[in-house]
Amino acid sequence: MKYVDEFRDPDKARTLAREIRALVSRIERVKQRPLQIMEVCGGHTHTIFRYGIQQLLPDTVEFVHGPGCPVCVLPIGRVDDCVALAERPEVIFTTFGDAMRVPGSKKSLLKAKADGADVRMVYSPLDALKIAQLNPDREVIFFGLGFETTMPSTAMTVLQAHARKITNFSLFCNHITIIPTIKAILDAPDLQLDGFLGPGHVSMVIGTRPYDFIAREYRKPITVAGFEPLDVLQSMWMVIRQIAEGRCEVENQYGRIVPEDGNAQALSAVNQVFETREFFEWRGLGSIDRSGVRVREAFAGFDAERKFAMPNLSVADPKACQCGEVLKGLIRPHQCKVFGTACTPESPLGALMVSSEGACAAYYNYGRIDVSAIEERRRARQATEAGAVTAGCLGASAASIAECVDAGVASGTVSAIVEPVLTAGTLAASTA
Ligand code: SF4
Repeated sequence: MKYVDEFRDPDKARTLAREIRALVSRIERVKQRPLQIMEVCGGHTHTIFRYGIQQLLPDTVEFVHGPGCPVCVLPIGRVDDCVALAERPEVIFTTFGDAMRVPGSKKSLLKAKADGADVRMVYSPLDALKIAQLNPDREVIFFGLGFETTMPSTAMTVLQAHARKITNFSLFCNHITIIPTIKAILDAPDLQLDGFLGPGHVSMVIGTRPYDFIAREYRKPITVAGFEPLDVLQSMWMVIRQIAEGRCEVENQYGRIVPEDGNAQALSAVNQVFETREFFEWRGLGSIDRSGVRVREAFAGFDAERKFAMPNLSVADPKACQCGEVLKGLIRPHQCKVFGTACTPESPLGALMVSSEGACAAYYNYGRIDVSAIEERRRARQATEAGAVTAGCLGASAASIAECVDAGVASGTVSAIVEPVLTAGTLAASTA
């Protein structure tokens, strides 16, 4: 298939893997510690796990999974706001499907729907606008979520609603921006990154110039990367080649999609409708200055935050949730205390387990983890461990897990169960 098969060619993958190994052998610093390359985008995380890219690389090269999955970084308080909006009787709440299962402090949108709220899954904000036109006696709210990739379509929809004078449509804006986030990561004292795979979809809108500061001020190489296995491998080769040659530049592997200056039309729509917020809260990363946008005053009638009262509370993650540490690359997904037991794709405790682009979900789905063995060991431990609280919580339903964990369950016992049965080395190396 055009644009698919040629990017999954096993021979080319082997050649690139060989070239990467040769480059790495020339880099002195790998004698002290492995190279750490952050893939900013969740789409890359998905490709890396699905195609076993890590297995093709030498042990001295590690991926750090970045914060580029917007569902994964949505704070619990914003999910609670969504639920509060959705439960208003006059509201039809519309959202992309992957946001439906993100857990709030009490429930997800999916649970709110099961409880009677009118929550509808849409494929585009224009679908939500159509629902508003068909239901003039209801208030239709669209849950705007995502980086610069999805921002233009939301902005265009607000412009359309404005042009067509549709007054029962509004946007709950949770759009976030990538550049301040990368800067916050670079400023974090506990990170030792050697380079970046830049986000391909975002760059299609913003171009490659906004990344110049990464190379110029922070002296880190970055390659904007596509999403097929060979895209990721070639981009890794380009970043590592820069490191081996002592260069720090912005390179563009995804030139077939990403123009240097971005998409002028999309950027113009975004600038018309949105303005930067002073700060925005990210799950696991805390508040990041100027990292989100809100609807401009000129379009206030389409802003759900101005139109409706909502809790607007900051809610801490459950104590056992280690999404923040995974997002910063401080631990691997399977090292989270509740990975694969209290937190699974079927009943996620943290947001990284919800979206297919989340590192934990990708690791769980493609890591060839023996779930039945986890279950068996969990049952065995439950049978032998004294303490009804621990046993009860390990077998708890998703709804009660947070309370159990907060109640002080020794979650360390869970990782002791998970760790030995992980067989990450058996990740499918489809391209090999
Ligand atoms: S396993 Fe669950 S709680 Fe732990 S980091 Fe992953 S998503 Fe968060």
